[in-house]
Amino acid sequence: MLINNTAPLVQLLNERKINSVVITTHHKPDGDAMGSILGLWGFLREFVSDVVVCTPTDYAENLFWLPGNEYVLDFEKSANEVAQKVAHADAIFCLDFNRLSRINQLGDLVRDSKATKVMMDHHLEPESFSHYTYWDYEASSTCELVYQWIANEFGADHVTPSIATCLYTGLMTDTGNFQHNNTKPATLRLAADLMEHGADHLTIHANIYDVFSLDRSRLFGYSLYKKLEIIPECKTALIYLDRDELKAFHVQTGDTEGLVNFGLGLKNIVLSVLIIDRTERIKMSFRSKGDFPANELAGKYFEGGGHRNAAGGQSTDTLEATVEKFKRVVWEYQEQLLAV
Ligand code: 5GP
Ligand code: MN
Repeated sequence: MLINNTAPLVQLLNERKINSVVITTHHKPDGDAMGSILGLWGFLREFVSDVVVCTPTDYAENLFWLPGNEYVLDFEKSANEVAQKVAHADAIFCLDFNRLSRINQLGDLVRDSKATKVMMDHHLEPESFSHYTYWDYEASSTCELVYQWIANEFGADHVTPSIATCLYTGLMTDTGNFQHNNTKPATLRLAADLMEHGADHLTIHANIYDVFSLDRSRLFGYSLYKKLEIIPECKTALIYLDRDELKAFHVQTGDTEGLVNFGLGLKNIVLSVLIIDRTERIKMSFRSKGDFPANELAGKYFEGGGHRNAAGGQSTDTLEATVEKFKRVVWEYQEQLLAV
C-alpha cells in the first residue's frame, strides 16, 4: 500500500520554489539504487537549478554507463563537497533505503541538515526521518516508485529515454530479471511503458550482465566447486569467503553480487547465505524461497534486514565466529525451513 504525502512538495517543485536538491541512496548502491537516483536526477533538473547526486560509497563498474553517472559524487572521495551540498540543500531525496544508518557517516550529515527530507523507498519498517514520504513495500523497486511519482504527479511525458533507461535498469535488477515474487502485472506493464519511453532492454541487459571480468567468473567457479556447503537438515546452502580468497580473485565492488543465488537454485534448498570478509566488517547476503523470512533471521542475529526473500546483514566478529554463529542459529529456524 502506497504512503504518499508529497502533494505540498510537488507544488513547491511546480512553483520552482526549490533551488537546490541532493539525491542520495544506500551504502554500496546496486542497480535499483543507482537507477532510481539517476532517473530522479534526470527528472528534477527540469524543475530545480542545482541538483546533486551522491553515494555514500563506491559501486559496481557495470553501473558506470548509466546516463548521468559522470555527475555522481562519492562521499568517500569528495567528503567536503558532499557535506557542503547536504548542509545547504533545500531538499534531500533519500532513495532505496529508509534508515539513516544505511548511509554510514552521511546519515549524520543528512539528519543535521535543515533541508526538507524526502524518502522514496520500498523496504519494510521505515524510520521516521523524512518530511515527505513516497513509500510502498509492495513496489518491485524504488525505480518503479520514481516512475509512478513522476507519471502520477507530473505526467509521464517528463520521462525521457535517459530517465527510462535508468529506471528500467533498477526494475530489471531488483526483480532478478522479472523472476522474483516482487514481479507483478504492474511491473511488466511498467517495463513496457519504459520501453515505449526509450529504454532499450537489450542494451541495458548487455551493459549490466555481459561485462564481467574473467576473475569474477573464476571466483564464482571456485566458490561453487570448493566453498559451497549444504546443511541438508535445514535446507540451507552457505558460501563464505575470506580476505585471501577475495584478494586472489582481485574482487572489486559488485563482483560477488549474484553468487548467493546459485545456492538458492539448488533443489531442496530454502535458504542461501553468502558471508564475505570485507575490510570494514563481515557482509552477509540472505536469499530464501517461499514464505521463509530471511529478513527476520538477518534482523535478529546480524544487524540487518531487507525483504522476506532477499535480505542483508553484517557482523563485527571474525569470519570464523560469524560462520559458526550462523551455523548455530539456523537450527532455530529448522521447522520453518522444512515447512517450505
Ligand atoms: P544484498 O544481499 O543484495 O546486499 O541485499 C539484499 C536486500 O537486503 C536488499 O534489498 C538490501 O536493501 C537489503 N539489505 C542489505 N543489507 C542490509 C542491512 O544491513 N540492513 C538492512 N535493513 N537491509 C539490508
Ligand atoms: Mn531496491
